[in-house]
Amino acid sequence: MKFGGSSVVDAAAIDRMCAIVAAQQARGTTPIVVVSALGGVTDALLSLAEAARVGDSPAPDTGLDALSRRHHDQAVALGVGDDTGLRSALDAEFTTLASTLHELRATVDTRDAALDAVAAVGELLSSRLVAAAMARRGLPATRVDARDVIVTDDRFTRATPLMDEINAAAHASIQPIVSAGGIPVMGGFVGRTVDGRTTTLGRGGSDFSASLVGAAIHAAEIQIWTDVDGMLTADPRVVAEAEVVPHLSFAEAAELAYFGAKVLHPSTIFPAISRNIPVRILNSLRPDQPGTLITGDPPPNGRPFAALACKRGITVIDITSTRMLMAHGFLRRVFEAFEQAETAVDVVTTSEVSVSVTIDDNRRGADIVASLLEIADVSVEENMAILTVVGDRLATNSTLAARIVGALTQFPLRMISQAASRRNVTIVLPQAYLARAMMHLHHELFAASPARTGESAGRSPSVLQ
Ligand code: ASP
Ligand code: MG
Repeated sequence: MKFGGSSVVDAAAIDRMCAIVAAQQARGTTPIVVVSALGGVTDALLSLAEAARVGDSPAPDTGLDALSRRHHDQAVALGVGDDTGLRSALDAEFTTLASTLHELRATVDTRDAALDAVAAVGELLSSRLVAAAMARRGLPATRVDARDVIVTDDRFTRATPLMDEINAAAHASIQPIVSAGGIPVMGGFVGRTVDGRTTTLGRGGSDFSASLVGAAIHAAEIQIWTDVDGMLTADPRVVAEAEVVPHLSFAEAAELAYFGAKVLHPSTIFPAISRNIPVRILNSLRPDQPGTLITGDPPPNGRPFAALACKRGITVIDITSTRMLMAHGFLRRVFEAFEQAETAVDVVTTSEVSVSVTIDDNRRGADIVASLLEIADVSVEENMAILTVVGDRLATNSTLAARIVGALTQFPLRMISQAASRRNVTIVLPQAYLARAMMHLHHELFAASPARTGESAGRSPSVLQ
């Protein structure tokens, strides 16, 4: 059971999550709890780190005090203000944090390592607070340091988990607590290298932690508790009538997360697939809602498309070969430029002499362009967006892709791609058009589905699958 930042944002939320865990346990299951930092704390920690780095010393001090007060206040509000063990553990984290922030000013080479040591504090604190609150409410909680479970490589700020090590560590640190009837409580997001240095799995990584632990101990189910009713047919901030998708396949959920559905960290699904463990997205504010169930083989639901997702702030790079005869080495050389800059490419379209790619992390954009200019003409366009339609049935029914593109004729589409999985159709367009395009597409693809027959009347049967 993973509870995100909004599900542990304050004492009231932690109270609700304790009730959810208790209800689960009352049903005879043996929960393991993974918590994010209290909502907003990771952002606050990273801005403290930034302030410390640029030598802005008063800001970290007041910021630290505010964070410390917030955790102690919530401890009081949760009825564990008298827990001296908890209070001194919280204080110890803040003492360490203060010296890590101090070191940040001096470090250059090890900056990412220091950033992770700072960012990790949010989950180290929240797991202590939550475990104490659970214990006070009669739940047999035992706090586990996430660094005793999640072993990673040393790519600080976006570390890769080491599955074999995690399996062994989870069996050593989590399994005995579960076997003795206890409830392990650990922070998400945080890990350590084989030689013991603190790492993180990247922003939003607590979902991934939960799924890694679930896979390691062969959980019956991985639950992601958040503040929406499940995965939705579109971003609800853009499309007001977006609806919960009751079932998704692993592949659909993974593609939706990858292409921008914020509810799930993109890596969450992979550990679950490896052990075929269902993943459920649930709302801690409305725990009686069914949520979204993600499994290997969801039942057919009559809907041709699963959902839409979008990503903003995308950069498109057009690369046109200046050496016409280099055809067979061209793509390798193009992708080398991205590889060297450790930058992931999202969407690719290609013709004989030109390639267009999108990236969402443009921090190394200048290096990439410099490298590409050695072999090609390059043009870069920022402020683009990706709009993706995901659905397993796209793979077997090619008229569905035509329906998507056909619905968007009045928008300036920049790239259109359907990758080998054929489970998605991905469109790149200027960000300024994204909201309108998404609303329009959602209306065309979902409002007209068989689930709402009234609205589908009058459409030609060929576009209604
Ligand atoms: N607290 C971390 C973040 O805000 C990890 C997470 O919540 O998943 O990114
Ligand atoms: Mg999240």
